Amino acid sequence: MSEILALTGLRIIKGTGEAPIENGVIIIEGRQIRDVGTSGSVEIPENAKVVDLKGYTALPGLIDAHLHLFGVRSLDLIKEPLLIPYATRVARVLQDLRALISAGFTTVVDAGSDIGLGVKQALAEGTAVGPRVVSAGYILSQTFGHGDQHYLPPEYVDVRVSRLPSYSLICDGVEECRKAARYALRAGADFIKITTTGGVLSEKDRPEYTQFTIEEIKAIVEEAEHANRFVHAHAQGSRGIVNALKGGVKVIAHGIYIDDEGIELAKERNAVLVPTFAIVEHIVRYGEEIGTPKWGVEKAKAVYEDHLNNVKRAYKSGVKLATGTDFVGGVKALRHGDNAVELAIFVEKLGMSPLEAITCATRNAAEAAGLADSVGTIERGKLADIIIVKENPLTDINVLLDKNKIVVVMKEGKPLKDMIGLFSK
Ligand SMILES: [Zn+2]
Repeated sequence: MSEILALTGLRIIKGTGEAPIENGVIIIEGRQIRDVGTSGSVEIPENAKVVDLKGYTALPGLIDAHLHLFGVRSLDLIKEPLLIPYATRVARVLQDLRALISAGFTTVVDAGSDIGLGVKQALAEGTAVGPRVVSAGYILSQTFGHGDQHYLPPEYVDVRVSRLPSYSLICDGVEECRKAARYALRAGADFIKITTTGGVLSEKDRPEYTQFTIEEIKAIVEEAEHANRFVHAHAQGSRGIVNALKGGVKVIAHGIYIDDEGIELAKERNAVLVPTFAIVEHIVRYGEEIGTPKWGVEKAKAVYEDHLNNVKRAYKSGVKLATGTDFVGGVKALRHGDNAVELAIFVEKLGMSPLEAITCATRNAAEAAGLADSVGTIERGKLADIIIVKENPLTDINVLLDKNKIVVVMKEGKPLKDMIGLFSK
């Protein structure tokens, strides 16, 4: 019989958007949450180990719905992939995973990298320790698309021809798109990542450029659905956002120029928008200092205000938002471990309550990860991905940015961080 743990006397933020439970009880049995509720309404099994956590707050493990496990330490897009040994970047990713755990993240969505899927296997076999990794592996892009890495020679880019580490699959036309989608699935992709517009960190295009046709997008979505998976699109320009949604894409990343049509479609199709403000804000603030190419800094500065305004309109209109940072590694300002900054930006710039921002980082982000049935809320039957924090993030969201206040991090009922001896009591 698996051990039963009863946490009592604590404030519980379930991640569902409901008001918190004060003086609550959580019963954890093995990997799962067996019960949750107010003290007195939940039966505590006789054989449970009971721990009183008065003064603490429990919430679902945080989820970053869009980041990259690249293991880079600067935004120098030439040096990092070409001159840093691959094994060095893998070691850095392992460090990044530890930082994410310490920061309370129990699931991360790797929106494309050359390391995520391999690390996922290492986590599964117990070689590595970290949050649950949901990874796209390769990124599908058209020729001259955001994922075509135009600052490199073409023969360096597509993983099927490049002799260098890369993460791109270049495909043009419906048949090539189907084949690239199948190639990504063959590698073990948990979902398929595509780019339907230009971007900030792609040299020769602009965020508003439209990439892939609707027919190409539909073909990729169909291939994903055949394998019971979904598509997550990098989409910044209005038309590329609309095309992605019409093509059946489930998760829209960035959404810089989302317009009324995009807002209506996103609501109608129950899509999730992951605006990733953190990376744009950090490039605007620290761009050149962290090695970002000049053209990238200029584009970030040009779009940030529109980005905030358009996403705010989408939020006010009822589009479902999730937190994701688009952070790439331990670069100052794009450091894994600082990912809760996106919640603070949602509160400060979108005018959300801390409770709403937490819902975006838990339930909604679980939906964007394709894991809504198993994680993201503290509810009966869900996996016990739970963090315990000192103080109350509902009165100050910045509590979640302080790793010293995140005292327990558990994934599937097992402690990955335990500063209060909860599991040794
Ligand atoms: Zn990204």
